[in-house]
Amino acid sequence: RTFRDAGLHPAMLDNVELCGYDNPTPIQKYTIPSILQGHDVIGIAQTGSGKTAAYLIPILSKLMGKAKKLAAPRPNPLTFQEGIDEVTAEPLVLIVVPTRELAVQIFNEARKFCYRTMLRPCVVYGGVPTRQQIALLTKGCDILIGTPGRLTDFIQRPHVLTLRRLKHMVLDEADEMLDQDWGEELDMILNGGVWTLLCHLPQGRRDLAKQYLAASHVRFRVGRAGSTTENIKQ
Ligand code: AMP
Repeated sequence: RTFRDAGLHPAMLDNVELCGYDNPTPIQKYTIPSILQGHDVIGIAQTGSGKTAAYLIPILSKLMGKAKKLAAPRPNPLTFQEGIDEVTAEPLVLIVVPTRELAVQIFNEARKFCYRTMLRPCVVYGGVPTRQQIALLTKGCDILIGTPGRLTDFIQRPHVLTLRRLKHMVLDEADEMLDQDWGEELDMILNGGVWTLLCHLPQGRRDLAKQYLAASHVRFRVGRAGSTTENIKQ
C-alpha cells in the first residue's frame, strides 16, 4: 500500500511528498486506514518507526477536508490588538506528551503536514513563563501539542483553553506519562470531549495501556457524533 492508495486529502499527499516520505512505514500502514475510518487505535511501536506521522497524517488529513468550516476563529492579523482581539483557544486535536522535547519535535512535524492549509499548530509545555504561550494560543490554534501539567493549568484558567471542539485526542508515550504520575491530569484532560486515542507504547507495555484504559472514567467516543465505543479494539 502507498500513501496515494490510502485516500488522503490532496494537500496532505503534497505535504507527505515534501517531507520526502515515499512509502508508509509498517505502523503507518496499520494506523492510517483505521484512523481515517474513525476507529480508536492503540499503536505500539519503537522510536524511529514513524509513529508520530502514523497519527498526524490521518488525523490532519481528515480535518483538511473540513478545515474551512472547522478552523478556529482567529483575529485579523492586520488589525490584531493584544489583549483585545484574543479568543479562547478551541483546538480540534490535542496531543498530550510527557516531555517538552517530544512536544517540540511533534510540533515541528505537525507544521510540515499543515503547510499551505488552514490548520494552525501550537505547542505548550512547562518550565517556561506562560505569557507568550497564552498569547500564541489565543491567536488561533487548531492542533495543540502539550505536556499534562501545562495543559491542565491552561484549561483551568478562564478564557485560555477549552476542549469543547475537540475531535481527536492522542496520548503519545502514554506509558511514560503514567510512570511520571500524570494519571490525574490525564483524567481531567480526557473527560472533556470526543476523541481518538492513540497510545504509543514500547513493545511489551500493552498491559499498561489496558490498565490505564480500565482505570479511567472516560467514555471512548469517536467518529460520527453520538457513536460510543466502550471497548477499544486492539
Ligand atoms: P518517529 O518514530 O515518529 O520518531 O519518526 C522517526 C523518523 O522517521 C522521523 O525523522 C520521521 O520524519 C521519519 N519518517 C516518518 N515516516 C516516514 C516515512 N513514511 N518515510 C520515511 N521517513 C519517515
